[in-house]
Parts: sequence; C-alpha cells; structure tokens
Amino acid sequence: MELSQALREMEEKVQKFIEEIRTIQRHVHHLEEQNEFLRAQLYAKKDQGAGFENLIRLYEEGYHVCPAHFARARTEDCLFCVSFLNKENQSSGEI
Ligand SMILES: [Zn+2]
Repeated sequence: MELSQALREMEEKVQKFIEEIRTIQRHVHHLEEQNEFLRAQLYAKKDQGAGFENLIRLYEEGYHVCPAHFARARTEDCLFCVSFLNKENQSSGEI
C-alpha cells in the first residue's frame, strides 16, 4: 500500500517535471527564433561594413575603386576614388 502511494507521488512529480520541461522548451524555441533574427540582422550589418572595407583595401593596394576606372591599377592618388570612398563611407554609416 505504501509502495503504490509512493509510486503515485513519483508519477505526479514526473508529470510536473515533464510540464516544466515543455515550458522551458517553448521558452528555448522562442529564444532560438529571436537569436536567428538578431543573427541575420547582425550579418546584414557586417556585410555592409565588409564591403566598404574591401573597397578601402583595394584602393590601398593600388587599384581604382571609382566607377570610371574600377579595378584598374593606379599610379597616383585618384580624386574620383577618394570622393567615391567618402560617399560610400557616409552611406554605409547610415543604418
Ligand atoms: Zn579612381
């Protein structure tokens, strides 16, 4: 008799435990969705920054980044490149 009572109590505890696990699962699911959304936003912002940094690096390595001479080797500073980079920098700063 005592044993069956103990088993019933144990069963109730297990059921409560399962309910707690389901509550936590819902919470985790919600957090995962939120995390995925924030990660996607973060990557979108990083890509904008990386694009501008690539242009800077290309220019510093001695190539034009201005639309008129894009990717051609340059022998001296190019005003078109500089103004293009300034414009890109301003637009990538806007979020
Ligand atoms: Zn140029």
